[in-house]
Amino acid sequence: MAGTVWVLAEQWRGQLSDITFELLALGREVAGQLGVQLEAVLMAHGQAGAAAALGKADAVLYVDHPVLAEPVPETYADVLVQLAKERTPSVILVPLTNVSRGIGTLAAVSLNAPCINFCTDVTVLEGGIQARCVLYGGKMEATVAVKASPAILGLWAGARPAEKGRDGAQPRVEQVSVSLPDTQRVRLKQYVDPEAGDIDISEQDSLVAIGRGIQTQDNIEVATELADVLGGAVCGSRPVIDQGWLPLSRQVGKSGLTVKPRLYIAAGISGAPEHTEGMKDAALIVAVNTDPQAPIFNVAHYGVEADVMDVLPALTEAIRARKG
Ligand code: FAD
Repeated sequence: MAGTVWVLAEQWRGQLSDITFELLALGREVAGQLGVQLEAVLMAHGQAGAAAALGKADAVLYVDHPVLAEPVPETYADVLVQLAKERTPSVILVPLTNVSRGIGTLAAVSLNAPCINFCTDVTVLEGGIQARCVLYGGKMEATVAVKASPAILGLWAGARPAEKGRDGAQPRVEQVSVSLPDTQRVRLKQYVDPEAGDIDISEQDSLVAIGRGIQTQDNIEVATELADVLGGAVCGSRPVIDQGWLPLSRQVGKSGLTVKPRLYIAAGISGAPEHTEGMKDAALIVAVNTDPQAPIFNVAHYGVEADVMDVLPALTEAIRARKG
């Protein structure tokens, strides 16, 4: 595999997302093992500053076009294909996020290239690439080897710490032109922001997450009180959202948001893979559950086998007392 390693830099409304830097850290390792250069591919409009922030890469291929201001997978994949045909990279790392999901798969179809999605790590083997990936929402893990190139790998967030991919160095930025049709088959019509006034749970340092074990909507009050003394917010598992007890913007997991707070208290949550997928990378996880066999205890750093209605108010009182 002699071609360069590419990282598809993800920008969302002009901001580079953390996963871009996570993949740059991983890409740097892979490029080092292959003995090739690391390049970031940035598609955007008027974002030269963002291109300059990708200093972990040796070079940035920056495609600036009005049509690329919004990340539309079909258009981005089209550009990626044009660049890959021209420059023949050996590996392309693509973020597997709500924004970029699909780009790698679409590009792979056009390039007739191997594509592995749901990857959590990538290593270099003699003559090829090996990826670890999760299947069935985290129930199984598989190791997949690929020798053909470009190997297109879709990665979940968390493969490496984002800090490892940030570098103050000035990368060589190359403005690249591509041909884009005047009319796009798929266009972004509007952004739908979270319900007005609601907080963004992915920005919170502390989260008190409630599951079906909270039993009634009235009981959510005890979780809110704990979140308030912690200076955080309440979020929930899908059944809590489905019942209308919390807005959709508070759902954690596969069909909700991925969160990485400093503290995540999982109260009355069983720990289904679809839920843990969205919170397993929290720095400190405390689980409260009456069932000692609940799978949430497998990802928790601290476990309390007890009733949420006993533990949450006691924690609130203890924190209040400590704060004086
Ligand atoms: P339960 O599984 O019913 O668990 C309740 C827990 O509370 C149990 O462990 C029980 O022991 C405990 N408990 C009961 N009473 C008490 C008490 N008094 N004190 C303490 N503990 C108590 N789920 C998500 O959360 N987020 C998602 O994004 C998501 N996406 C999905 C996508 C798909 C395609 C599918 C198929 C499913 C998805 N799910 C998602 C649903 C997921 O599979 C689980 O059904 C869900 O996470 C279970 O929620 P829960 O833990 O609150 O409820």
